[in-house]
Amino acid sequence: MQTEKKVLDADILIVGYGPVGAALGCLLGKYDIQALVIDVEADVLEHPRAIALDNEALRILQMTGLPEDSFEKVVLPKVRMWSQYFSDFSEINTTGSINGHPKLVTFFQPELERALRKQVGQCSSVQTMVSTELVSYDEHYDHIEALLRTSEGEHLKVRCRYLVGADGAKSMVRKSIGLAFTGKSHAEDWLIIDALNAPKSIDHLEFICDHRRPGPHMVAPGGRQRWEFMLHPGEDPKQMLRDESIAKLLAPWGSLSEITIERKAIYRSHSRCAKEFSRGRVFLVGDAAHITPPFAGQGLVAGLRDAANLAWKFSWVLKGRSPEAVLKTYSQERRPHAKAMILLARMMGKLVMPTNAVAAILTHGPVRASRLLPGLRRLTEEAQVKPANQFKKGFFLSTPKGAPAICGGQLSQQLVRKSDGEIVLSDDLFSQDFSLVGFGVDPLSNLSAEKRKMLEGAGISSFYVYSRGGNAGSAGSENSADNALEDIADNFVSRDSRGWVALVRPDCVVMGIDRIENLEVLLHKTKKYFLTASSAAVNNIAFA
Ligand SMILES: Cc1cc2nc3c(=O)[nH]c(=O)nc-3n(C[C@H](O)[C@H](O)[C@H](O)COP(=O)(O)OP(=O)(O)OC[C@H]3O[C@@H](n4cnc5c(N)ncnc54)[C@H](O)[C@@H]3O)c2cc1C
Repeated sequence: MQTEKKVLDADILIVGYGPVGAALGCLLGKYDIQALVIDVEADVLEHPRAIALDNEALRILQMTGLPEDSFEKVVLPKVRMWSQYFSDFSEINTTGSINGHPKLVTFFQPELERALRKQVGQCSSVQTMVSTELVSYDEHYDHIEALLRTSEGEHLKVRCRYLVGADGAKSMVRKSIGLAFTGKSHAEDWLIIDALNAPKSIDHLEFICDHRRPGPHMVAPGGRQRWEFMLHPGEDPKQMLRDESIAKLLAPWGSLSEITIERKAIYRSHSRCAKEFSRGRVFLVGDAAHITPPFAGQGLVAGLRDAANLAWKFSWVLKGRSPEAVLKTYSQERRPHAKAMILLARMMGKLVMPTNAVAAILTHGPVRASRLLPGLRRLTEEAQVKPANQFKKGFFLSTPKGAPAICGGQLSQQLVRKSDGEIVLSDDLFSQDFSLVGFGVDPLSNLSAEKRKMLEGAGISSFYVYSRGGNAGSAGSENSADNALEDIADNFVSRDSRGWVALVRPDCVVMGIDRIENLEVLLHKTKKYFLTASSAAVNNIAFA
């Protein structure tokens, strides 16, 4: 006899509680969206996978609300590329920070995943179920009904508005919506080793670009080091995982009597991207949407970008502030950038693993020579070859001439002092809602009390950023103190930006920007992106 199935309700069902599903859970929790996150496994995966994160990933983790010290990091000062013919033929300077975060760190993925799960646990609107898998689902015109099965064999039904496949590279969700996962699976096997207590260590990331045995090597938290060795055709992966093989490979850094092997695995990389990142009510994030060779350290980073892009769009649609059509801008914005990162990783792969001595000379030689030209040298040393996280099409307006920030690109993050004296990173304020940020001008000073109230209803907060040492009243607004922020390092307010107002999305992407005198026109232009209170607010501002 068929037993009655328990029925759960959620706005969003996230299938997959890996790092990307967990980050999305945190962000939905921050926006108070009812979400259910499930995973077929009982605990986080312990395999040696992601090890490096860039400043963009750390910025998104900040937006999830994850405390900065919730997982250990090692800050890397440089990435060095070594060739047997040209010695150090290229170097990327990773010293310093961008937008409030170190340019490059290493970390321990299971520790980050546990920290994210703990953060999800703080979100009252997000439920989680482990040891529970997605079996099937039916899409209806206004909702989805999903069937789950627990490891004990219990079946549950979930009724949700949208379903997100965060279920990794082999994504069942992606297959179920029939989206092609186009690209390439690479032929090389790699041996990954995470080890502790090696007597010799480095403080950076090095790529040994020796065609005879290429591979990256880096320092990681907890006294760890990571080595990745490319296997030769014909080498037996099982044999290479044995201690005697590993001992030979690690001999330059110490003997196995001193080194503790923590994790080891054989891995094959892929360069693949789903044809679209959504279909109907189903969305793909993380490895379910795109997978990349690890050379640029961008697999998880790209997944975090997906989560940051999608979470607030769900929130605005579910709260009736934006039309459902804006969800289409998720794939439009994210897919080209994910593809560009895969291309970068493949390009780096060509440098890291030349197929033979001639290929090594022909690839490493020109890169070495390019360092003699300051422009080209800067391109690699300052990682300017990395595709900017800037969209061509999507949920934003065009950039007016002379604007100090680009629409569709991220607003920089700076330290600001609030009116109560507390110094914070600006995203902590700007990533809660849409933000109207005035540089050296108070956006509210041009708006009546009635119009300000309407902005509030639309989920648009307003901030007046003034120069260091200035005072909140200097823009002439009697009510400016509450929303005034002092620009601690004078990076927001400059000669070029003074007098401009930016409308910033909750993922800190600039949606629109114009001079204060054009503020009403700017808000009017955003009309099609907002509904009800928002569109009313914008209409009233424009036409009152
Ligand atoms: C060797 C290696 C090195 C790497 N280095 C880096 C790096 O330095 N930097 C970087 O950014 N990235 C790196 N990556 C990539 C990074 O590890 C992945 O991009 C990231 O882990 C993907 O996270 P995810 O949450 O999308 O998927 P996953 O972590 O794969 O999580 C998917 C989850 O979905 C669950 N699941 C699957 N099917 C179902 C189902 N039907 N029902 C319920 N649950 C399901 C799985 O159990 C799993 O927990 C590396 C990867 C490898 C292999």
